Amino acid sequence: MEDTLDIAVIGGGPAGLSAAINAVLRNKSVKIFTNALNYLQKAEKVDNYLGFYNISGQELMEKFVDHANKLNVSFEYGKVIDIMKYNDMFMINFNGKIINAKAVVLALGITKEKMLNNEEKLLGKGISYCATCDGALYKGKNIAVYGNADDIIEEANFLSSLGANVNYITVKKDIKGLNQNINVINGIISDIIGDNKLEGIIINDKYIKLDGLFLLRNSIAPNSIVKDLILEDGYIVVNRNMETNIKGIYACGDCKGKPLQISKATGEGLVAAQNAAKYIDKLKEMI
Ligand SMILES: Cc1cc2nc3c(=O)[nH]c(=O)nc-3n(C[C@H](O)[C@H](O)[C@H](O)COP(=O)(O)OP(=O)(O)OC[C@H]3O[C@@H](n4cnc5c(N)ncnc54)[C@H](O)[C@@H]3O)c2cc1C
Repeated sequence: MEDTLDIAVIGGGPAGLSAAINAVLRNKSVKIFTNALNYLQKAEKVDNYLGFYNISGQELMEKFVDHANKLNVSFEYGKVIDIMKYNDMFMINFNGKIINAKAVVLALGITKEKMLNNEEKLLGKGISYCATCDGALYKGKNIAVYGNADDIIEEANFLSSLGANVNYITVKKDIKGLNQNINVINGIISDIIGDNKLEGIIINDKYIKLDGLFLLRNSIAPNSIVKDLILEDGYIVVNRNMETNIKGIYACGDCKGKPLQISKATGEGLVAAQNAAKYIDKLKEMI
């Protein structure tokens, strides 16, 4: 197991990078855990970030990452599945690997995906967000893989290599790289059936019996990652110090509300990091 981090930053966009550099400057050990894709990279031109007139989103992100690299901020690429509090420590499930941290800064950006009916109720009861974490449970079983994750084909292939009978559900017609033994179903899941355990799904008005359903998306709703996190209109609720309702967890940037803009994201990253650093210093005093 790796050493306990002072601060784990989840999300490597402007908010997360700003939080990480400010945490380093406060002499805290910090690491960014993030999916590779970030919205800013898609911006053709940014004209309202001070000091960088007429710059592309890609170029601005490269400058942000370069700044973080110069301060020796380290990154790990992948998806955070869930975060649990254990005494004064957080256990972060990062692609099935457990990371320990004293404080967490959520800089997740916006989550566009809507949950499916019964998804929340059956999460962990046949529904999984993580092939690495739960794949081994489904050897010889009938499962479906569904979602928009960039690595969904790899993950479907991985689940099939573990011996599961995999159905890949997609609206895409042109699918490349999928193992031959995976069954492709074209369509959209309209309902998930099950009471205490997943029983099946409805797709194209037809019922399909399943043992497991892997919902693999690029992002996960914040309150699925952290149970009991308070949201309002889908955004994480924080106070002026960027503190969420869970002590030791901070949120900044687009995931905590409008305006969805870079300047706000970087400013909030700083506030979150400084308050997380103060929180850690207080924890040390108490020991
Ligand atoms: C086309 C376009 C043009 C834009 N133009 C402008 C502009 O001109 N000016 C401006 O100010 N703003 C602009 N924006 C908005 C700007 O990009 C956002 O406000 C800004 O990127 C928010 O930063 P953030 O760090 O909060 O979130 P994001 O940049 O969205 O970063 C969040 C990061 O968290 C990662 N993540 C999410 N969930 C997980 C998880 N479970 N595990 C691991 N990683 C995770 C994501 O992959 C992503 O890398 C534009 C946005 C778009 C899409």
